[in-house]
Amino acid sequence: MEFAYYNPKNMQSLLDTLSSLQNYAVLAGGTDLLVKMKEKLLRPMPQAVVDINEIGDLKEIAEIDGYLWIGSAVSHTALTQSRLILEKAGVLAEAASQVGSPQIRNKGTVGGNICNASPAADTVPALLALNASVEISDQSGRRHVPLADVFKGPGKTCLLPGQFISRIKIRPVQRNEGAAFLKFGKRKALAIAMVNAAIWLKLADGVINDVRIAFGSVAPTPIRLYELEKWLVGKPAEKELFAQAGARAAQLIKPIDDIRCTANYRKRLAQVIVFRGLMSAWEQAEGRCRCE
Ligand SMILES: Cc1cc2nc3c(=O)[nH]c(=O)nc-3n(C[C@H](O)[C@H](O)[C@H](O)COP(=O)(O)OP(=O)(O)OC[C@H]3O[C@@H](n4cnc5c(N)ncnc54)[C@H](O)[C@@H]3O)c2cc1C
Repeated sequence: MEFAYYNPKNMQSLLDTLSSLQNYAVLAGGTDLLVKMKEKLLRPMPQAVVDINEIGDLKEIAEIDGYLWIGSAVSHTALTQSRLILEKAGVLAEAASQVGSPQIRNKGTVGGNICNASPAADTVPALLALNASVEISDQSGRRHVPLADVFKGPGKTCLLPGQFISRIKIRPVQRNEGAAFLKFGKRKALAIAMVNAAIWLKLADGVINDVRIAFGSVAPTPIRLYELEKWLVGKPAEKELFAQAGARAAQLIKPIDDIRCTANYRKRLAQVIVFRGLMSAWEQAEGRCRCE
């Protein structure tokens, strides 16, 4: 396998490099890309690889004007160790901590997790639950796109040639809010999710003021359960309601059978995940648990 290798040192050089190439792949951690290249799973095979690891801006996590900005080349390990993420978006640190193994988390990045566009990506439900948007950069500038609009199918994103994800923007979890990430795999570690999900919830005087429920591994792309969210808003938070929400979630999703498990089993897992996730987010929102 032969390909040209580029490692631009700053954003402008990256943009210039991308716009000068026809058939290339961006290389972040390489934990998806290099496996696919080695197995010749890409059509066409990239003739150039553009390594973004030497661009410091893409590895930063910052709080600006009340939002958290995460560089796309921030590794999963860095997410789990960032004070800002742990204190203000613990649900994302929890999701990142459940990706692969220590080696995969050290190399794999949040941007790579998004752009690989796997329906099972672990950080994506957490980011969807946090209502993340992504900054897409190209020679003409930067634009912001809701994360949910990035996914066009398994392995497919909205990115056009010359474009890359530079940063991810999320709003910190506030007082009266809580968020939880849960994952079921076939093993306790180094397992792709049979089902994963993240739930964010906002309370006002014990009533659900707003809620976001995001799932992975139950559809061709990660999804939000908008219908269930709408059903929950305005109802007093309580255990029985959350049990009903779990049952509704199982009815709403349309998963498939695959090598990891059956569609029916996925529905059972979704029921459990929604119940447990809502309970955990509720406890946090009420200040009873600050464990995320
Ligand atoms: C053994 C193993 C276990 C794994 N376990 C898990 C797991 O439990 N959970 C999970 O979610 N994933 C898992 N993965 C998948 C993978 O590790 C993650 O998806 C990881 O986050 C990918 O990030 P990366 O930086 O390595 O991406 P890369 O492999 O570098 O890139 C992935 C894709 O995204 C593109 N890309 C990367 N960054 C950008 C950018 N900024 N802009 C535009 N395009 C970009 C690349 O061109 C490529 O198409 C596993 C992989 C392996 C090999």
